[in-house]
Amino acid sequence: MFESLSDRLGGVFDRLRGRGALTESDVRAAMREVRVALLEADVALPVARQFVDRATEAAIGQNVLRSVTPGQQVVKIVNDALVEMLGADESELEIGVTPPAVVMMVGLQGSGKTTTTAKIAKRLTSRDRKKVLMASLDVNRPAAQEQLATLGTQIEVATLPIVAGQQPVDIARRAMQAAKLQGFDVLMLDTAGRLHVDQALMDEMKAVADIATPNEILLVVDSLTGQDAVNVAQNFSDQVPLTGVVLTRMDGDARGGAALSMRAVTGKPIKFAGTGEKLDALEAFHPSRVAGRILG
Ligand code: GDP
Repeated sequence: MFESLSDRLGGVFDRLRGRGALTESDVRAAMREVRVALLEADVALPVARQFVDRATEAAIGQNVLRSVTPGQQVVKIVNDALVEMLGADESELEIGVTPPAVVMMVGLQGSGKTTTTAKIAKRLTSRDRKKVLMASLDVNRPAAQEQLATLGTQIEVATLPIVAGQQPVDIARRAMQAAKLQGFDVLMLDTAGRLHVDQALMDEMKAVADIATPNEILLVVDSLTGQDAVNVAQNFSDQVPLTGVVLTRMDGDARGGAALSMRAVTGKPIKFAGTGEKLDALEAFHPSRVAGRILG
């Protein structure tokens, strides 16, 4: 991921550095190229525009052009703008509450929601020593609940026993009760996904959120879907108070637009990146590292 964006930006910056002294029009020309590179990487248009406007202003407004290494300074400005666009700080989960903390996972079917639920449960169990209970509220897709139970067995994390025919809100209630009574620190609710955003799914999700009052509502989106991922995020965030985003398939050859636009469009931080099918393929999202990778 980010390879072609990184190559494009690398070319722009090499030319800037090679020039030595810089004029305002050199900077403007370079920023136009940055804008094209961002759009080619599938960054949402308003996000790319705002990014370039800000970076241009910073580069021209300060004493950058008169400095000894103007090219270098411009690269730094772009780096800082990238970090800001990605969301300046790495964000941990808000689970330091009176237990059980409730983490609700939402997203479209196939986005990697169930896998990510298990990945986060595994991380909380092994890294943070939390006692985690997972419950699947997906009564639409046959075997969704069994899928989570199987993952639970693999990672040695408890799952709520399946009661056939029970509806999502009732499963959520039962899960909350079980988590309280059995002293779990974190309850993870894996909600149903649909192929498209639809109102029935949204209503079901809102009903669950109302009774479970989650500490975190994490949206799982597939980074390979580019601009669509951003639209999906926008739709979900209009309906429930998301607290963060998990981008899956960051190991694939996505161009990066989803990662780069997500924060600006939803106002929510990317908290984790899924980097493979294995259950330990989950990384905390570090904007400065990602910016560093893009700028080489
Ligand atoms: P759900 O329908 O949203 O619950 O999706 P699943 O969790 O069942 O995942 C769908 C497929 O995507 C599975 O084959 C997962 O192994 C795969 N998957 C999930 N996350 C990632 C990821 O970060 N990278 C890769 N390469 N595959 C993933």
